[in-house]
Amino acid sequence: MLIDFHSHIFPDRIAAGALKSLSDSIVKYQGVRYPHYTDGTLNGILKSMDDNGVDISLILPIATKPTQTENINSFAKSIRSDRIASFGSLHPEQDDWEAVLEQLAEDGFKGIKLHPEYQSFYVDSKRSLDILKKCEDLGLYVTLHAGFDYGQPPPAHCQPDRLKNVLDYVSGKYIIAAHLGAFVNWDEVEKHLVGTPVNFDTAFISKFISPEQCKRIIRSHGADKILFGSDSPWQEPKKEYDFLLSLGLEKEEEDKIFYKNALKILE
Ligand SMILES: [Zn+2]
Repeated sequence: MLIDFHSHIFPDRIAAGALKSLSDSIVKYQGVRYPHYTDGTLNGILKSMDDNGVDISLILPIATKPTQTENINSFAKSIRSDRIASFGSLHPEQDDWEAVLEQLAEDGFKGIKLHPEYQSFYVDSKRSLDILKKCEDLGLYVTLHAGFDYGQPPPAHCQPDRLKNVLDYVSGKYIIAAHLGAFVNWDEVEKHLVGTPVNFDTAFISKFISPEQCKRIIRSHGADKILFGSDSPWQEPKKEYDFLLSLGLEKEEEDKIFYKNALKILE
């Protein structure tokens, strides 16, 4: 069984435009155009899941403005099925953030996605700490974009030293730091986050991290706290899966990463 714990889709009518603007912003800051492997729609990801051997995908929507939260969360609710799960969304600047979180928990959501770059907040700012604390109290997981984002200018808002600060306020058990703790900043992950209770997903790392460092981080952090993710449509799940398989982990470690840890959160 394979569960992709980090993927993105959009409502049909905005999918093409959303992919184009995300892709354009990466071109702006990196000078490279990354391909997208689905058309960004629900049907698109279902087809890709069939092609890549993915049984369940978790969608991580992001409200880039407070006014988008309500629509995004009703979309997130509407796409749920036996193959599609979704976290909810919240913009840290909205005044009613507490009520939104309570409603999401009541509606059966298991977590939310926050994106410190696209929502421009530091992970150890007052509002962020309040949100992370409230989520922990409600039992909601928080997937945080962590490390650099190729579509946004520096400084990055959720680097390992700042994420470490958060652990003075919350346990970290409900945090999932995307991209193995911090995209393209894995030396700092090893310095500040490995061994803490924070979970990592594996989205969009295979092209950038050495197999040695990836295996070392997984082993020293513990496979119990690693969740398979691809960042679809920006990567094909099979490529990330094959990369992780190539590391030569124990079968039990692979099972935890590929589906067992995810099932515990989704059930
Ligand atoms: Zn992502």
